[in-house]
Amino acid sequence: MKALPKSLWAATATPAAPYPPLSGDVTADCVIVGGGFTGLSSALHLAEGGVRAVLLEANEPGWGASGRNGGQVIPGLKLDPSEMRAKYGDERGRRLTKTVGRTADLVFDLIERHGIACEASRGGWIQGAPGPKGLAEVRNRAEEWAAEGADVAVLDRDQVRARIGGGEYVGAFLHRRGGTINPLSYARGLARAAVAAGAKIHGDSPAVALERVGQPWKVSTPTGAVTAPHAVLCTNGYTDRLWPGLAETVIPVLSSVVATEPLSDNLRKVILPGREGVSETRRVLNWFSIDGQGRLVFGGRANQQEGDDPQAFSPVLARLRSAFPILDAPRIQFRWAGYVALTTDHVPHLHELAPNLYAGLGYNGRGVAMSTMMGKLLAERVAGARAEDIPLPAVPLRRIPFHGWRATGISLAIGWKRLQDRLNP
Ligand SMILES: Cc1cc2nc3c(=O)[nH]c(=O)nc-3n(C[C@H](O)[C@H](O)[C@H](O)COP(=O)(O)OP(=O)(O)OC[C@H]3O[C@@H](n4cnc5c(N)ncnc54)[C@H](O)[C@@H]3O)c2cc1C
Repeated sequence: MKALPKSLWAATATPAAPYPPLSGDVTADCVIVGGGFTGLSSALHLAEGGVRAVLLEANEPGWGASGRNGGQVIPGLKLDPSEMRAKYGDERGRRLTKTVGRTADLVFDLIERHGIACEASRGGWIQGAPGPKGLAEVRNRAEEWAAEGADVAVLDRDQVRARIGGGEYVGAFLHRRGGTINPLSYARGLARAAVAAGAKIHGDSPAVALERVGQPWKVSTPTGAVTAPHAVLCTNGYTDRLWPGLAETVIPVLSSVVATEPLSDNLRKVILPGREGVSETRRVLNWFSIDGQGRLVFGGRANQQEGDDPQAFSPVLARLRSAFPILDAPRIQFRWAGYVALTTDHVPHLHELAPNLYAGLGYNGRGVAMSTMMGKLLAERVAGARAEDIPLPAVPLRRIPFHGWRATGISLAIGWKRLQDRLNP
């Protein structure tokens, strides 16, 4: 079992409950592989519906992206409502728009309903525009979501500056239903709620084989096996070889994060006093927020391997300094990284891999809210909802060509996107 990275969240989250490894052969109604938000939300919703769910996590719940992300609860997908209608058709597109518009509500409702202590703050989500292209984009986004009745606005340069205290944006999109959380505390809270509702969770239990034994699925770990009529794979950017080809449907990209020491009271009055989560319209984007103790959490892309070698984080630190010159020489307390799973069509994928075998993954760096919703949708499908009643249509498994060359491809794509960001911000 791998330890959690030495992140801000690992240092400040609510304590983990013990989840002993699977022992021996057990049966269930549904076996879930992966203990991030997707798997935990799936387990919780299944258990609440009276379905016996057993979740297997290779490490501990929240070990993957769910316990290392920026904690920004972002409603919606990368696609705007008109793009969803164009992609999925008018009726499905409208239904999907309604569902993804409510993802942040689902997160905050679960937090409230299950009393999850995770520093939840509902200050909204800001997407800053660094130039004219971004500004046109955020204006269109606000117009489309406003037409759907969403609680959104466009901020002008002065308004966004007053909220952020840095960043140099010419305008921004504001979604007031968004916010921020301590994501590891949220993952641990979901795990506790799932167990309280009747789900079984096993840590240190890597699924090493998945096979059909007659009708049911059997998932084996080094110390036991779960046999169940339904199985759900929720392994996202950490997907291994358990199901052939699934890992090749997403591109895992390392995203790096630094967190400062708690800012002084004076700085806290200037930098994100409303504790919004912030991202940007840039193609290679930075994102930042303030945690419950007033630390600035700042993330983005750095060309590095996993680990906490300070040198490797210097590109992220350089961008933090340029976004917040007021900080002068920021004192960094935590550094960590994790894998974001990208899809080539920029939307999450729900797969029906075989009869009663499902997978949900590929949140493109926006999975805190959407993976929670995906877990709920997967649970509804397992519990008997018809495929056409699930707002996110299932798509066939499609391997991304030249997946083995992804490291080179990612470097080239990022270089090209950075150039576009400079030429057409
Ligand atoms: C640095 C970073 C910053 C991010 N910031 C944000 C943000 O601010 N807002 C936002 O909306 N999204 C953000 N994201 C994305 C978000 O974190 C993810 O989309 C979301 O957490 C995905 O959840 P998940 O449950 O699908 O996957 P994960 O949380 O990655 O969980 C997958 C789990 O599967 C387990 N697993 C894999 N294989 C097996 C196996 N064979 N057997 C058993 N277990 C297995 C892994 O151990 C892992 O715990 C960020 C991601 C990163 C990495």
